[in-house]
Amino acid sequence: MKIAVFSAQGYDVHFLNIENQQFIHDLVYFRDALNQTTAVRAAGCPVVCAFVDDILDGPTLSKLAAQGMRLIALRSAGYNNVDLPGAQKLQMTVVRVPSYAPDAIAEHAVALMLTLNRSINRAYNRARDGNFDLNGLVGFNMTGKTVGIVGTGKIGTALARIMKGFGCKLLGYDTYRNPTCIQLDMNYTDLPFLLTQSDIVSLHCPLTSETTHLINHHTVNLMKRGSMLINTARGALIDTRAVIDALKTRDHLWYLGIDVYEGEGPLLFTDLSSTIIQDDVFERLTTFPNAVITGHQAFLTREALQQIAHVTLSNVSNFETGRLNDENVVRS
Ligand code: NAD
Repeated sequence: MKIAVFSAQGYDVHFLNIENQQFIHDLVYFRDALNQTTAVRAAGCPVVCAFVDDILDGPTLSKLAAQGMRLIALRSAGYNNVDLPGAQKLQMTVVRVPSYAPDAIAEHAVALMLTLNRSINRAYNRARDGNFDLNGLVGFNMTGKTVGIVGTGKIGTALARIMKGFGCKLLGYDTYRNPTCIQLDMNYTDLPFLLTQSDIVSLHCPLTSETTHLINHHTVNLMKRGSMLINTARGALIDTRAVIDALKTRDHLWYLGIDVYEGEGPLLFTDLSSTIIQDDVFERLTTFPNAVITGHQAFLTREALQQIAHVTLSNVSNFETGRLNDENVVRS
C-alpha cells in the first residue's frame, strides 16, 4: 500500500527500508510532523504512518479522510496524540506497536537515574576541562534504596527486574497488580504512600485524562526529602511548573530526569541550537545542575527501531488482507 510516513528521521528511513524488503509497500517519506497544514502531503496515500508528536486531531483527521486515507499506522505504543472518537466517526482504523523492546525504555530510565545520582553529566564536563575537583558530585548507593514504579506494565516490569538486580526495594502503583512484579517482591501501594516512601519514583503509565499532571503541586510535595523523579513515559504526566518550584525549594525533590516534556512538540527531533528557544519553562529546567533532560530518545536502540519498523509494516499488510492482530488495534 502507499504509505505517507511523517516525522521520518534518518534512522526511521533506514530501518523501514530494510524491513520493507519483506513487505514491499510504497513508502513516501516526509521529515515534517503531521498536522492540519502538512496533511495535504498525504494525498493519494490510503495509509498515514505517524510518530509521537504528530498531531492527529479532528481537523487533521478530517483532511486526511477527505483525501481517502483509511489507516493510521502509529510507530509508537502510546496513542494520546490521536482523536480516537474522531477517527472512529470517520471510519479510520488506528494501529500501533504495543510492545517493542520495553527494556530499551527501562534501561534509559536507569541511565537517567545513574547520571543524576553520580553527576556523570557534570563530571564529564569537568574532566574535559581538566577540572578534577570532586566537590558537589557526591551521590548515593542504589543498593537498599526504595524505587517506586508508577505503571507496572511491560516497561515498568522491565525496570522492576533491573532495580531488583541493583538490590533496591520495590513499590508499585497501578490499577492492575502484575503477578510478575509481585514475584519480584514488589509491594503494591496507593500513590501517596509510594511517593512518601520512595527514594526514586519512575513513571511508566500511559497519558490519559486520569494521569494528566499526576505529579502536581500537591503530589510532588508528598515526595521524600532528597528524592529523584524520572519520567520516560509522557511529558504531561508531570506539571512542569510544580516540579520546577519543588526543585527550587529542595524540600522534597532533589533530582529530575526526563526524556519527555509536556510542550515537547515544537522542540524535539530538530536541531534548535542556533535559535532562541521561546519556551521559558523548558529553558528554566535546563538551568538546574540536578536535572537531566534527553529528547524523547528512550526508544532509540537498534533492536527497538527494527521491531517498530517490522510491526508497523506488518500492521499495514494485515490491514490490507483483513487479518489485523486485535492487540495492535486502538479503539476509543
Ligand atoms: P503498558 O500498557 O504495558 O503498561 C502501562 C501500565 O500502566 C499498565 O499496567 C496499566 O494498568 C497502568 N495504568 C494505566 N492507567 C493507570 C493509572 N491511572 N494509574 C496507574 N497505572 C495505570 O505500557 P508500556 O509498554 O509499559 O508503556 C508505558 C508508557 O511508556 C506508554 O504509555 C508510553 O506513553 C511510554 N513510552 C515511552 C517511550 C519513550 O521513548 N520515551 C517509548 C515507549 C513507551
